[in-house]
Order: sequence, then C-alpha cells, then structure tokens
Amino acid sequence: MDRIAFTGVGKRYGPTWALRHVDAVFRAGEVVMVIGPNGSGKTTLIKCLLGLVHPTEGAITLDGKIIGGDPSYRTVIGYMPQISQFPAALTIGQLFHMMQDIRGLGPAEVDDTLIKELGLDTQLNKRLSALSGGTEQKVSAVLAFRSRPSILVMDEPTAGLDPLAARTVLRHADRVRNEGGTVLVTSHLMEEVEALADRVAYIQDGSLRFLLPMKEIFQATGEDRLSRAIPVLLSKTVPV
Ligand code: ADP
Repeated sequence: MDRIAFTGVGKRYGPTWALRHVDAVFRAGEVVMVIGPNGSGKTTLIKCLLGLVHPTEGAITLDGKIIGGDPSYRTVIGYMPQISQFPAALTIGQLFHMMQDIRGLGPAEVDDTLIKELGLDTQLNKRLSALSGGTEQKVSAVLAFRSRPSILVMDEPTAGLDPLAARTVLRHADRVRNEGGTVLVTSHLMEEVEALADRVAYIQDGSLRFLLPMKEIFQATGEDRLSRAIPVLLSKTVPV
C-alpha cells in the first residue's frame, strides 16, 4: 500500500534547487534508505515530508491527502533528527512527560521499552543541558519511537551512538516496518542500515537518480555490498 507520494517535488533556497522534480512513492511495511553525497538534498526531502519546509513546486501526499497547512498529519510520524535541540532547563524525564502531554497521549499509547533498553531509565533526572552527544541521540530516539509511529523518519540515526545502542534503535525501526510502518532512513553507507533496508533512494544534486529494491541493485551489479554496488549502478544509469 502506498502511503507517501512525492509528485514533481522541487525545493529552491534562493538560487539553489535543493530538490528537483522528485517523483517517489514510499509504501507501508518498508524501510527505504535515502543516500547521496553531502548537500545532495536528503535532509530537504525529509523536511518537506515533515512540513518543516514547503516545496517550491509539486506536491506530497500522505494516505492520499496533500500535506499542506494543517500540521495534524504529523502525529503519525516519528522523527529522529540528526541534531536535536532540547529545552536545556528540563531533565530527560521532564522532557518525556512534556512531549507526552503535547501529543495528548495516554500511557497506553506510549512505548517506553526503549528508555530501559538504552539505559536512560537511570538517567531521567539528568538535565538536558548536561548530556553527551550520544545520550542526546538516545533521548531523540526514545521521542521518535514513543508514540508508536506508523511513519518513522530517521536522519543518520546511528551517528554518535555506541554499537549496542545503534543496534537497539535499528531493531525498533525493524519492528515498526514489520508492523506495517514506513521507515525512511538517511544514512551514509552503513552495513547495519543496509541489512535493514528494502529499497534504496539515491539522491544527487537534488535529483532522485534511482529508487530500487536492494535485491535488484545487487542483481544488476553483481555486487553484494552497497558501497561497491552504487558506483557501478551510477555509471550505468543515465543522469536525470
Ligand atoms: P543533505 O542532507 O543531502 O546533505 P541538504 O538537503 O541539507 O543536503 O542540502 C541540499 C542543498 O540545499 C545544499 O546545497 C544546501 O547548501 C542547500 N540548503 C539546505 N538548506 C538550506 C537553507 N536553509 N538555505 C539555503 N540553502 C540550503
């Protein structure tokens, strides 16, 4: 089932087109890895979906409805940003409570298993201003997963996390997919995410060069690692 559709989406910042004519569909029950060089438009694509920036042209639909002025569609989306900005005066525990209140969630709608699995249960009284980068990432992961999202957007989720925590976060992303969710992960080439992905979207200079199943990528190139398969594939595909 198609959940998210980008149709002719372009985004211009001043003279720079950060996204150009992107047509893409993301389905229920899949993990799509969004990759491409720095500055290629990955974050802009995610921000358009989240409504943090508005496309200059084209449209994005979620379950058939165009996302626009009304931000209520975002309640189904869990977002783990690359850099989080937390209110410094609060503790971790206070932030979790506050976000639950803002979203109007009751205890039954909240999944707190990740708090314990990431070892945050013993750190709930720590101030957000005093956290290491890795702990910030863990807090950000808990917030992304907590309201049982059916769409999960993660921007470089494992950057700054220790390997165990990274694996835990990716296991939860896998669970969201298996329960029928749509998961978009931007990532530098990483074996861990590679193992999870169903399809790969490759963006270059704002254009979607391809959006292909992992199996097809490996079959077409004869490679079994994305880091080797992608250059082969790019040399074969005609630039958009
Ligand atoms: P990526 O996430 O792949 O690194 P981005 O989506 O952040 O790429 O950026 C795509 C392009 O848009 C880059 O050229 C970047 O400099 C430009 N860009 C991104 N955000 C802004 C902004 N707020 N103002 C001006 N240019 C921007």
